[in-house]
Amino acid sequence: MKLENIKIVLVETTHPGNIGAAARAMKNMGLSQLVLVNPRCAVDHQAYARASGADDVLNDLVKHASLTDAVADCVLVVGTTARTRSLVWPALTPNSLAQKLAETESDQPVAVVFGREDSGLTNEELQHCHYSVTIPTNPDFSSLNVAAAIQVISYEIYNRLQDDSADEPPPRSRLESPADSEQLEGLFEHLQRLMIDIDFLDQDNPRQIMKRLRRLYQRAEPTVNEVNILRGILSSVQKLKHYPGGDESTTKDTKNTKKY
Ligand code: SAH
Repeated sequence: MKLENIKIVLVETTHPGNIGAAARAMKNMGLSQLVLVNPRCAVDHQAYARASGADDVLNDLVKHASLTDAVADCVLVVGTTARTRSLVWPALTPNSLAQKLAETESDQPVAVVFGREDSGLTNEELQHCHYSVTIPTNPDFSSLNVAAAIQVISYEIYNRLQDDSADEPPPRSRLESPADSEQLEGLFEHLQRLMIDIDFLDQDNPRQIMKRLRRLYQRAEPTVNEVNILRGILSSVQKLKHYPGGDESTTKDTKNTKKY
């Protein structure tokens, strides 16, 4: 994995100064792709003042309306959090994240996602991530300023990856490459629809089933080919004669098959 393929994603940031400080922290550590999801402030003079010369990072930043869009092309999505959550997500330290990135052989981007200044990332947003990463801190005072958190994590990434920059990853065919976030979301939607149709998933009482399945498949980091196989199985089930919904589901499925 190369530094240039790493996206730093900020969700609903409210202070321009934090966006500028994030750009500065990134450029110090050789990162250049800044992505804002639904920012709650302008990238104004305060942002440029705090960027202290990392103007190019601010000039090139990309905005998206949703986290799903922002990470659609990413083969690995990691959410940062100061809090432990009710449903435990596979966790990395900043150091093991850097190691994980060093082992990720892909030319497609990866994303490290940072939350709102006041409330962090929602549980739903975290469930779009393969892993969570927490910076070890004083347990009684665990929340860093968002740009400070970016600094710590970017440093670990830089420290681990700079030595690898010259290494070219061995070529892999597209089918044997890790599936990106958009492909995984397609699988989750397909699986959810099938589970509802066969009365396995009760929409009125879904419990934690989809969350647990998301965690399972994201942890496995399936390839494009593996996701295609899983979706092929789901499509075959939907084509069964006694599949609930009959013709309607088969029609839906035909469209779906074409999609992947
Ligand atoms: N009160 C919020 C903290 C928000 S701090 C909460 O409880 O989640 C803003 C962002 O900085 C967080 O969403 C996260 O992206 C990052 N951050 C702050 N402290 C962190 C820590 N100890 N480890 C990892 N990320 C952290």
